[in-house]
Amino acid sequence: MEAYFQLAYIAAAVLFIVGLKMLGRADTARRGNTVSAVGMLVAVVATLLQSGVDYAVVFAGLVVGGGVGVFWSRRVQMTQMPETVALFNGAGGGASLLVGWAEFLSRPGQDTVTAIATVLAVLVGGVTLTGSIVAWGKLSERVSGRPILFGGQQVVNGALLLAAVVVGVLFAMNPGGGYAWLLVAIAVALVLGVLSVIPIGGADMPIVISLLNSYSGLAASAAGFVIDNTVLIVAGSLVGASGLILTQIMCKAMNRSLTNVLFSGFGSATQSTGQAVEGEVKAMTPEDAYFVLEAANNVVFVPGYGMAVAQAQHAVKELADLLEENGAEVRYAIHPVAGRMPGHMNVLLAEANVPYEQLVEPGDVNPNMEMVDVAVVIGANDVVNPAAKEDKGSPLYGMPIIEVDRARTTFVLKRSMKPGFSGVENPLFYKDNTRMVFGDAKAVLGQLVAEFKSD
Ligand code: NAP
Repeated sequence: MEAYFQLAYIAAAVLFIVGLKMLGRADTARRGNTVSAVGMLVAVVATLLQSGVDYAVVFAGLVVGGGVGVFWSRRVQMTQMPETVALFNGAGGGASLLVGWAEFLSRPGQDTVTAIATVLAVLVGGVTLTGSIVAWGKLSERVSGRPILFGGQQVVNGALLLAAVVVGVLFAMNPGGGYAWLLVAIAVALVLGVLSVIPIGGADMPIVISLLNSYSGLAASAAGFVIDNTVLIVAGSLVGASGLILTQIMCKAMNRSLTNVLFSGFGSATQSTGQAVEGEVKAMTPEDAYFVLEAANNVVFVPGYGMAVAQAQHAVKELADLLEENGAEVRYAIHPVAGRMPGHMNVLLAEANVPYEQLVEPGDVNPNMEMVDVAVVIGANDVVNPAAKEDKGSPLYGMPIIEVDRARTTFVLKRSMKPGFSGVENPLFYKDNTRMVFGDAKAVLGQLVAEFKSD
C-alpha cells in the first residue's frame, strides 16, 4: 500500500510542475491552475488515506475553512488581491509554525534532523506570519504604507536575526529538553517578521509580497520534513523557488537589488522627491482625442492600476477592436510592476480576451517608441514616469519605465493630477506631446468607443 501512496505523491509532484510551467503563459495559465489543483487534490487524498487521521475532525475543518473561504472570497475585489495574497502567505507561514510546534509536543524525543526542520518551520513560518500581516495592513491601507524607520533599526533587526540562529542551534542540539528554546524561537520569529517589514514601503511592497510567498514555501517544505511528507517538501520547495525567481524578476524590473529593497527605507518621508516639475498641463476632451486616434496607424495602450480600479479592460478591448477595424496596429505594453500584483494587467486583459500576441514588454516597445502615433496611458502613472530616467534625485530613478514620453502623442487617462502609488510627481503630464484626458478610465474609453461608433 505504501508504494501506492508514494506513486500518488510522485503524480501530484508532476502535476504541480506541469501546472507551474503552464502558468508561465497567459494562454495556458487557466488550465495550469486546474492541473495544479488536481495535483493538490491527489496529494491531500493520499495524505488523508495514509495518515489514518480522525476524519470527523478533518471534515469539520473542511466545512468551516471552506465555508469561510467561499464567503470571504466573494467579497474580495480584484484590486484587493495583493493584500489577499499577503494574508494567504501569512496563513501558510502560520500553518507551518503550528505544524512544527504541534509535532514537537505530540512526538517528544525528536532526532537532530527533525529538530532542525522543526525550528526552521517555526522560525520561517513565524516571520512569514507576522511579516505578511504587516504587508496586508500596508497594502489595504489599514496602516501607513510609508516605511516606518527608527534609529538603530538595522542593528535591532540584525541582533534578532542572530538571536534566531543561536536559539535554533541551541534547540537543535538539545531537542528533547529544548521546549523553552522553541518558545523563544517562536517569539523571536514573530517580532522579526514585524520589524523586517515595517521599514519597507512605497513601490517596494510587491517585492516583499513575492519574498514572503517564497518564505511560506520554504516554511512548508521544512514542515514537510517534520511530518515526513514528501509531497509537502516538493510543493513547498516549488513555492519557495518560484517565489525567489519572481522576487528576482521584480527587483530587476525596478532596477533595485534585494538588499536595497529590504534595507533602504524606500519611499520614506525624509527622502528627496526629486526636481520640481515644470511646464503646462494640456487637457483634451474625449471628442478631440477621438480625432487624433482616428488618424493613428500605430497605437500602444499602457494599462496601470487605474484600469483595474475602473474595471476598464473590456472598454479598452472594444476600443482596440474599433482601432484595428480602422486600420491601426494595436499593442498593449505591460510593465512588470503595473497594477498592484505581479501579472495584474495580464489577468485583466486576458479576462477581456485580448490576444496574448498583442501584449509586449517595455524592452520590446521602447526602442521604437518614436514610431508610435498615440500611446494611451490608462490609469498608469509610476510605470510611465520619465523622472525614473531623467531625475537622479527621484526615488524612482533607475526603474525601467515604458517610455511613452517619446511617442508622437501621449494621452493620459486619469481622474486628476494626483501621483501614483509611489507618491512621486510625474513630469510626463507636463510634456509638450502629452494630453491629459481627465475622467474615470472606463467612462472616457466608453466615450471614445461611442465616437467611433457614431462615425
Ligand atoms: P500607479 O502609479 O499607482 O498609478 C495609478 C493611477 O491610476 C493613479 O495615478 C490614479 O490617478 C489612476 N486611477 C485610479 N483610479 C482611476 C480610475 N477609476 N480611472 C482612471 N484612472 C484612475 O499605477 P501603475 O503605474 O500601475 O504603477 C504601479 C505602482 O504600484 C508601482 O509604483 C508599483 O511598484 C506599485 N505596486 C505594484 C505591485 C505589483 O505587484 N504590480 C504591487 C504593489 C505596488 P487619479 O487618482 O488621478 O485617477
